[in-house]
Order: sequence, then C-alpha cells, then structure tokens
Amino acid sequence: MSNTAGRVIRRKGFGATVNVAKPTKGSTVAVFGLGAVGLVLIAEMTNGGVDRSIECTGSTEAMISAFECVHDSRAFPSSHTNNCTQKVLNTTKALKSQFIFRAQGKMTNKAGQVIRCKAAVAWEAGKPLEIEDVEVAPPQKFEVRVKIHYTSLCHTDVYFWEAKGQNLIFPRILGHEAGGIVESVGEGVTDLAPGDHVLPVFTGECKKCAHCKSKESNLCDLLRINTDRGVMIHDQKSRFSIKGEPIFHFVGTSTFSQYTVVHVGCLAKINPDAPLDKVCVLGCEISTGFGAIVNVAKPKKGSTVAVFGLGAVGLAKEPECVVLQGLLVWIQILSDVNKVAKKFGVTEFVNPEGHNKPVHEVISDMTEGGVDISVECTGSTDAMISAFECVHDGWGVAVLVEVPHEDAVSNTYKLRSERTLKSTFFGNYKPRSDIPSVVEKYMNKELKLEKFITHQVPFSKINKAFKYMREGESIRCVIKMEE
Ligand SMILES: [Zn+2]
Ligand SMILES: [Zn+2]
Repeated sequence: MSNTAGRVIRRKGFGATVNVAKPTKGSTVAVFGLGAVGLVLIAEMTNGGVDRSIECTGSTEAMISAFECVHDSRAFPSSHTNNCTQKVLNTTKALKSQFIFRAQGKMTNKAGQVIRCKAAVAWEAGKPLEIEDVEVAPPQKFEVRVKIHYTSLCHTDVYFWEAKGQNLIFPRILGHEAGGIVESVGEGVTDLAPGDHVLPVFTGECKKCAHCKSKESNLCDLLRINTDRGVMIHDQKSRFSIKGEPIFHFVGTSTFSQYTVVHVGCLAKINPDAPLDKVCVLGCEISTGFGAIVNVAKPKKGSTVAVFGLGAVGLAKEPECVVLQGLLVWIQILSDVNKVAKKFGVTEFVNPEGHNKPVHEVISDMTEGGVDISVECTGSTDAMISAFECVHDGWGVAVLVEVPHEDAVSNTYKLRSERTLKSTFFGNYKPRSDIPSVVEKYMNKELKLEKFITHQVPFSKINKAFKYMREGESIRCVIKMEE
C-alpha cells in the first residue's frame, strides 16, 4: 500500500465512522474485513448485537452479516468497501467508543493455524537477504505470535549476518528491534492477548528467577540473550519453515518477518497509542544507551562525560547529557562524524588518530585531570582501558556498555585510583517491567526518537538498510513490513 493510498483509506475509514456510523460514547463496534464468521459470536457476546458495524470486505455475505449483527433496536450498519480495519479501529478508539477488541481477535482466527507470510531470510553469511514465503507455526506454551508492523536494523544484525568467527546458524531470520501487535497466544500466556501492542526484546524477563526478582539485575536466567540458539526454548524447534525445512530464529525475536513467534517473557506490552514506526527503535541500542546514563552512570548537573564510539548506543546518551549542560566529549576514530555528533549536542570531538599521545591524556589535558563519567560503546579492549583511564581519579566512573571482545585483558594495576568501573547490559532495563515506561518517555516528549531515525525503507528493500548502516550513512533505518 503506498502512502497516498493509506491516506485516502484513512479518510474513508474516518468518514465511515464519524459521518455514517456515528457511534456515541460507549457504543460497541464490530469491524469486518477479518472474516465474517465470528459475527454470530459477537451477537451472542453483546447481548443481542453490537450498536454499529462497519463492513470493510466488500463481500455480500459479510454485508448481510454486518447488518444482522447490530442490535435489532439500534440497527444502523454502514457499508464501506475497503480494508481499513486498523484505521477504523484507531478512529473508534479516538472517539472513546468501546470496541470489541477480543472479538476481532476471534474473527481473525488464524490462531492455532500456520500463517504464510513474507520474511527476509539470510541463507548464508554475508549474502543479501532474500524475501521468501515462510510458514510460521502457531505459538506453543508461553509463546506469542506477533504481527510485526515495523522493524529497524541494528549493528548486531549486521554483525551476525556477517558471522565472522561465529557459529554459522543459517538459514536464519534476523532482526531484533521492532514494534508489532499480538496475533495469537499459546498455552499459559495470561498477561498478553490478541491486539496488544508489543516490542520484542532480545533478552527476556521470566519474573521468577533470582535475577528477575532482584531490583539490580536484568540478567534473567531463563531468557538472557543467547545468540547461538536458533530455536524456541519450549521444544528446541523452530517455528519458521519453508517447504518443511526449518529456518532458524535469531535472539528469540526474528523480526525480519511479517509474523514471528516470541517467548512471552521477551515482549514488552506498550501503550497502544505509541506510534510503532517510532518506538520500534526502543528494542535495543537506544534503550541501552539511555539506560546506561540514567540507570548506571547517573551524571549530576554539570558533569563532564566522554563517550567512546558513535552509533545509536553512543548517541542515545545525549538527551540526559545535554540537559546537564556539561562537557560532552566524543571519541571516535572516524573524522566525518563530527557533524552528526554536533547535532546531538557534543561540545568536543576527539579523533585518537589525530594525536600523538594516548587518548586518555588528551582528555585529561582538556578537563584538568579527567572527565567525571566515561561510557564505552565500542567493545574494543583498548577503548575500554582508555575509558577507565580518562575518568578523574578519586571520583570518576567508567561504564562499559558493549560486550568485551573475548581477548580482553584487564590491566588490573590500573584499577587502583578510586575510580569506579561499571558495566551494563541493555541499560539495566528489565524488558517487561521497564521498557513500557521508556515508551512513555517518548510519548511525554522527554526522549526524542525522530532524530535517530534517519531512513525508512519498505520491506522489499531491506538490503538497502544494511547498505546504509555498513556505509555509516544511517543511525536507524526503519523497515515497513507491509507495502
Ligand atoms: Zn528470569
Ligand atoms: Zn541491537
């Protein structure tokens, strides 16, 4: 669907509700277009029928059902021949009408069945993704099937797609930053229902283990990130297949598919009014960066901060830092990021290659002994050591955000000097308990996501998103799943 068509449909959908159906506060509404069969059920559920029905399929049978499902004393159906279910749904919500959301879930009713949809499959390391027709099996115990509306590309997807020096788990469906709507739920899922808006998260929260019960930790024993697992925990099988051959999952999310199956513990239920094309980017790096500052580094007003490494994690630290009006130093080997960094409020920029002394000495000279806080976002051992050495002795705090490379060697003698070294994972956020509140920060305009979203592409052009990221052109490229 093109943007233009989307707008026309929205107007039609709005008109169908406000000009024709005219629901009053508290009216119950059923929207067709998801299969008319469930209407008999609705009539049952609503004590004789709904107040208004809107018909969006164009099928005669559905039109008759639409007429018949309204309450006999209030019969007033409107006919409307284009599929605009979600738009009308939004409109009716805006009008504070009571909408039978669960009934819609029943009407869709692919629950328990295999769904065929498009997914971008990585067949081999480093080869462009191919858009394929895949079968997505129904969710099993403690699993949820989610219709992905928007996804965005993160460096970690590119890293595992390149698969340099890693276990080769292919064919695989990558993707871990996304916004979607629950399509159906498996056995034992009680806190999510069809229609709920969710952000999948690559690490989970079972709410039962010692880590989940601890206020300090988000390192769930059961659902902590596992990049080597390409199957679901419940039965060690994949829910994706092509002609019976399994396609592997990625970090429990696999959002480069129009439908995916995710463990309920890896889904944050969010405000349904939050625009999914914006908040989809909160599933990984931006929350990590934001959390690293607000939950871990906790700078005070006027604090000086050094950030190692550009990219969404580094940039996401900016909102708090700018508010603090302190010195924000950026350390990056590339020289052309200067412009981007300035836009994000960086006051100083250091390219280590432009100096003939170690970067921590450069920073020490700039700041009379070191910054108050440093944040390391590259994962390189050298940068980690520099991040530790560039904070002021006596009170400085260095926060490691990136996972250290395996060969990382700690120079322990440098750990004496009353500096503090901290590390964080996903900004210390618990996915289910905390991420909904980060979405609220966006809704309250405390966290601006628009400037991170530099590109948007349709799903069929997903390889372009990889190109933008690898060439350093994008911060975030949002991928629209339906075109
Ligand atoms: Zn847990
Ligand atoms: Zn990520």
